[in-house]
Amino acid sequence: MNQQQEKECRELAKKVRIHCLEMVHKGKSGHIGSMLSMADILPVLFTQLLNIDPKTPKKVDRDRFILSKGHGGAALLATMAELGFFPLEWLDTYYQDNGKLSGHISHHIPGVEFSTGSLGHGLPVACGMAMAARQAGKKHKIYCLVSDGDLNEGSSWEAIMLAGQHKWGNLVMLVDYNRLQALGASPDIIDLEPLAPKLEMFGWTAKEADGHDLNAIYDAAASPQPGKPNAVIFRTVKGKGVSFMENNYKWHYGGLTGELLEKALKEVEAAQ
Ligand SMILES: [Mg+2]
Repeated sequence: MNQQQEKECRELAKKVRIHCLEMVHKGKSGHIGSMLSMADILPVLFTQLLNIDPKTPKKVDRDRFILSKGHGGAALLATMAELGFFPLEWLDTYYQDNGKLSGHISHHIPGVEFSTGSLGHGLPVACGMAMAARQAGKKHKIYCLVSDGDLNEGSSWEAIMLAGQHKWGNLVMLVDYNRLQALGASPDIIDLEPLAPKLEMFGWTAKEADGHDLNAIYDAAASPQPGKPNAVIFRTVKGKGVSFMENNYKWHYGGLTGELLEKALKEVEAAQ
């Protein structure tokens, strides 16, 4: 990425964080820790890597993006609204009765490929898309962003085995590896380590990168190898950008009072 592209990504990431905080405040709930954890990855993906046009989100040869950790979908919705997939005003209706946007991500929203939130579903669907693209001789790629909790699900490992066996090099799994999940620290619940060597044993390539360094995100996720499915393990911080939320699983899910919203926004707005 050049400096201008990096600046645009940084500005978008800041806007995404601000939207997420305001959405969770207005909606009185949401998986805020999970949203903030991926708030740097999504802007790089959507502005630099994915071949997706907000004006024609169903274009046949578009890259596919599936957010498997759909409970944190407000971060994706904020990114997409900023890029023009749908009106920004819709964000004001997040998680509200008769609102446009539900708490978990829904494919009824323009540009959203698949409804998710129950963990372990995104990667199997991404595998189906990778297989279909391969069989049809299409060149587009399929990206799937998963969480620690996703990789606790047996269905994810079935998908990992299947993709490795069939060498679906058009598939890229991005791991938002913040080592926390709903009820505690991932290593205390089901330890995924050693994750990169494990994926390699299953026939994948595996890279690791800082999930809050915009250039590192770009470098790790650009140019996937064609001969094997590709994993990029992003080291991230749950709640990133808000000091009282960072690395605290109690902010996996919950509302945000006006006072805490103000405190959080001050921090995010002051960040470089
Ligand atoms: Mg996690």
